[in-house]
Amino acid sequence: MKKTFSVLQREQQLTEAKSTVFDLIIIGGGITGAGILLDAQSRGLNACLVEMQDFAAGTSSKSTKLIHGGLRYVKQGDFKLVKEVARERKVLRKNMPHLISTQQVIVPIRPGSGLTRITAKVGMKIYDWLAGVGPDEKHKILSAKETLSMLPSLNPKKLKGAVLYPEYKTNDARLVLEVIRKGVEMGGTAFSYMKVNKLLYENGKIGGVQVEDLIQGETARLTSKYVVSATGPWVDEVANMDGELKKKLFLTKGVHIVVPKELFPIEEAVYFSAPDKRMIFAIPKRKKTYFGTTDTPFHEDLIHPGTTTEDVEYILKAVNENFQGLKLGMEDVESFWSGVRPLIMGKNTKNPSEISRKDELFESPSGLISIAGGKLTGFRVMAEKVMDVVAERIKKDHERVINGCSTTTIKIAPKEIAEYPPIEGLTQEVTNKLHHALHHEMIYHPLDFLARRSGWIFVNVAKLKQYYVPITSFLASQFHWSKEQEQKYLKEVEEALEQATVPQG
Ligand code: FAD
Repeated sequence: MKKTFSVLQREQQLTEAKSTVFDLIIIGGGITGAGILLDAQSRGLNACLVEMQDFAAGTSSKSTKLIHGGLRYVKQGDFKLVKEVARERKVLRKNMPHLISTQQVIVPIRPGSGLTRITAKVGMKIYDWLAGVGPDEKHKILSAKETLSMLPSLNPKKLKGAVLYPEYKTNDARLVLEVIRKGVEMGGTAFSYMKVNKLLYENGKIGGVQVEDLIQGETARLTSKYVVSATGPWVDEVANMDGELKKKLFLTKGVHIVVPKELFPIEEAVYFSAPDKRMIFAIPKRKKTYFGTTDTPFHEDLIHPGTTTEDVEYILKAVNENFQGLKLGMEDVESFWSGVRPLIMGKNTKNPSEISRKDELFESPSGLISIAGGKLTGFRVMAEKVMDVVAERIKKDHERVINGCSTTTIKIAPKEIAEYPPIEGLTQEVTNKLHHALHHEMIYHPLDFLARRSGWIFVNVAKLKQYYVPITSFLASQFHWSKEQEQKYLKEVEEALEQATVPQG
């Protein structure tokens, strides 16, 4: 059977999976799990990824959507890390240029910003040198006048100038999807809506997972030689199934808000300080500008972290203090999203912004490997670390030597979208994208398309409102839903829309 990346083939794929002993089962279909699937397949292993929601529906679709160059590590004096991160950024851009583009960023310099013109000049010189920045990507130090000509609404009070430098931006959910799809094209298996509810053991060693198929409603056992938990904010929950009670994570919530571009018209992103000295991004995205993020300890529903009035007001206050005459208010905010950071528990959890963003790998007595922390930017390197551990175990347990990591050279190209027959109520462009998502992008719930494939719930709620009814009715016809099921999915979209547009409390 030729594998397609579509729910339409799910039954056959699950039957096959149930009778396979995989080399590796990966729990979690965010960017971390996606990277591990790709690395495992590229080393010649047979891996299976299981995700309980849609791919990327956890933290990996709720980020600031930047592939960082590591500039902040210059300030921390971690020069080795600057080099590593900058190298990684280049690798990702080389391998998937359609997913990663340059975004110029302006960082205003004023007292309290943590920068002076001199420290900015020295710091950026060091950065350009360590990061091996090419001639077209070198930074500039702007005068106050030049800064204001680029950002007329910036508050000029005590402004000493700005740094202008390039970051890279991405589409986080699409990045996850395309990395998983590549892993599947290389022979891997991936299921969304497949929840691990129990870990399976043989002689005390982990040897598979029991899953609940959240589409067909059946329970199945999937077996493997090794199991990795790449479950981001859920890492403690899965470790708990393995008998580990001590928490490894400190979770914080990060909120972004979106306003129409005409209210905040920028071409360059801006990285400015909030009144409490935390740094906030303003980033242009087509006809919108989004701002973020907050960083507050979080202990509630991981699937729906939610956005409060206080979250939105914190960001609005920071924006209004830095940009004069704008006076952005609640009524200007079109939508928002919030994500949960799976930070590694350290000694100092008083100030969430100071907790390390580094990743860490844990191995339990049963053999479960958990990976948490880190960033979108470092996903390939995190996967390499995990797979090096798996490779070592395979060598020890099975006397089999597997290939080293080769993901620095794996290219991911966009898939052409074909022309499809029209769907009532949709433009031809939306029709083509929807058919394509059904056949090549593993959608099932309307929200898979409306949130992760199109990005509408994040930055274009008007389009979502315009098309969600015909999209749901098309999917109902394809998946043979009853009227009740169709109503249930419509309600799910309406609830998600409310969460994305009406702050709680
Ligand atoms: P997730 O994406 O959460 O994936 C884990 C998955 O595991 C989930 O989809 C979940 O459904 C699944 N799962 C859990 N339990 C089970 C189970 N029992 N069975 C099956 N599946 C299960 N990084 C950057 O590099 N650049 C940025 O600009 C950036 N901005 C950020 C902004 C915010 C607000 C936040 C919160 C983070 C940001 N990050 C950024 C960090 C980055 O987004 C995360 O490090 C990354 O997305 C974590 O990915 P993950 O795959 O580990 O976790």
